Amino acid sequence: MKRIAIIGGGISGLSAAFALEKQRRAGIPIDYVVYESNRDLGGVLVTEHVEGCVVEAGPDSFLTEKPWAADLCRELGLGAQLIGSNDAHRKTYIVVNGRLVVMPDGLMFMVPTQILPTVLSPLFSIGTKLRMAREWFHPPRKAEGDETVAAFVERHYGPEMVDRLADPLLSGVYGGEAAGLSIRAVLPRFSEMEAKYGSLGRAMLAARSKMAKAPARPLFTSLKDGMQQLVDALLARFPEDSIRPDTRVESLEQKDGNWLVHSLAGSDQFDSVIVGTSAPAAAALIRPINNELAQELGGISYSSSVTLTLGYDQSVRASLPPGFGFLVPRTEGKRMLAATFVHNKFPHRAPDDRALIRCFLGGARDEAILDSSDDQILRIVRKELREIIGLSAEPRFARVYKWKSAMAQYGVGHLERLARIDRLRSALPGLALAGNAYRGIGVPDCVRSGQDAAAGVLTFLGLSKETLPASAS
Ligand SMILES: Cc1cc2nc3c(=O)[nH]c(=O)nc-3n(C[C@H](O)[C@H](O)[C@H](O)COP(=O)(O)OP(=O)(O)OC[C@H]3O[C@@H](n4cnc5c(N)ncnc54)[C@H](O)[C@@H]3O)c2cc1C
Repeated sequence: MKRIAIIGGGISGLSAAFALEKQRRAGIPIDYVVYESNRDLGGVLVTEHVEGCVVEAGPDSFLTEKPWAADLCRELGLGAQLIGSNDAHRKTYIVVNGRLVVMPDGLMFMVPTQILPTVLSPLFSIGTKLRMAREWFHPPRKAEGDETVAAFVERHYGPEMVDRLADPLLSGVYGGEAAGLSIRAVLPRFSEMEAKYGSLGRAMLAARSKMAKAPARPLFTSLKDGMQQLVDALLARFPEDSIRPDTRVESLEQKDGNWLVHSLAGSDQFDSVIVGTSAPAAAALIRPINNELAQELGGISYSSSVTLTLGYDQSVRASLPPGFGFLVPRTEGKRMLAATFVHNKFPHRAPDDRALIRCFLGGARDEAILDSSDDQILRIVRKELREIIGLSAEPRFARVYKWKSAMAQYGVGHLERLARIDRLRSALPGLALAGNAYRGIGVPDCVRSGQDAAAGVLTFLGLSKETLPASAS
């Protein structure tokens, strides 16, 4: 019997555990233990139900085009629970000089693909519109090295595009800023498009004409009753003694070709270890074993975020603008980064007579928000909602969630760092890494990273389909 420890019971660690559980049920001789510091498993996937509303504390959905999370849901019997975002009402606003300006039709991420709506939009100055026209003739350019998203976007469309779109969009997804994130790690398709077509506009149009042949799918997918359904369905599959909540791993040790996992509950011996924590937490565990690997892991920075969900009555719902919500560029001088009108994005998450607004704060430039009390955060958000959309009604309820150092920031050179991490890790037999620090921060990427880590340790242990004798697989 081979034993595997999984450190961290977020979606990355649980996905690794489920991949192992399937093998165990198929008769492969393994046994695994998931260590989680918190009482609850699932990491940032937490859903609350308040007054008939589904309130997400962390992620509210995942990108449909990345299949791994939805596939996992189907495998767990949650296929009928999968829902798509209400894209018929997909309209997003950007706050410009304190007012909402709708994002023009035809913008794909931040790339304009339709001339008229872009030309008529008050979102961009004449100067930026001229840059957009010139971008059409941008020559193909093979990337010589990495650069920031801000530098890349500025080369194509100028600084206003960075301020009004790139930065707010990235702070929504990564809690980071365009001037700190790597184009090759965060938007690899943009680098490829530039190399092949030069112009991002022309590249997007080419991609769209291919996509037009496929049936349209909603941009985001989620679960009817909230993202925690995924965690609950996973937990229902594991033998009880495989899960150790409230058990923080204090240190790791390599001894005679085995791994010793030390926690306050005692020490246990394993053949393999999957570390599914944040990179700094992984660095702390690995430092006594390999300082160089720990240095690389510790070099991946994280930002923190705060979400605040407000529930209102029907009168507020009727008064809000249509659409999914708005993004706030930094230059507007607000603490809020974005707000989602949840009742429009996922209508079944709020009864017809309720409005549900989810606001985001924090990110790379505002770690200080974590030091504010829930009441202070509520006051900040209510003041800014009053200023931006004229909303002064008293909410029926408010829920604040603080996530310290939860969002990995892929800085310039991230892919090279990953190559160094892979090389250093492969010198530590039986160790695998999973989590949002490496090859994607979204829930589907984390699911895949857990599955890949599980496949890696099975191969190392000689237990994968490829390495097992036919009689055992
Ligand atoms: C507010 C917010 C909104 C988001 N929105 C979206 C979204 O809409 N769509 C999307 O796709 N993604 C979204 N994301 C990103 C995505 O949710 C995360 O990247 C992903 O869930 C991270 O999962 P994980 O398992 O890698 O890490 P985590 O969820 O952070 O789990 C790691 C776990 O390891 C545990 N741990 C750490 N150290 C130890 C130790 N020494 N011993 C034992 N346990 C330990 C921690 O307690 C934690 O539970 C969002 C993230 C946040 C914070």
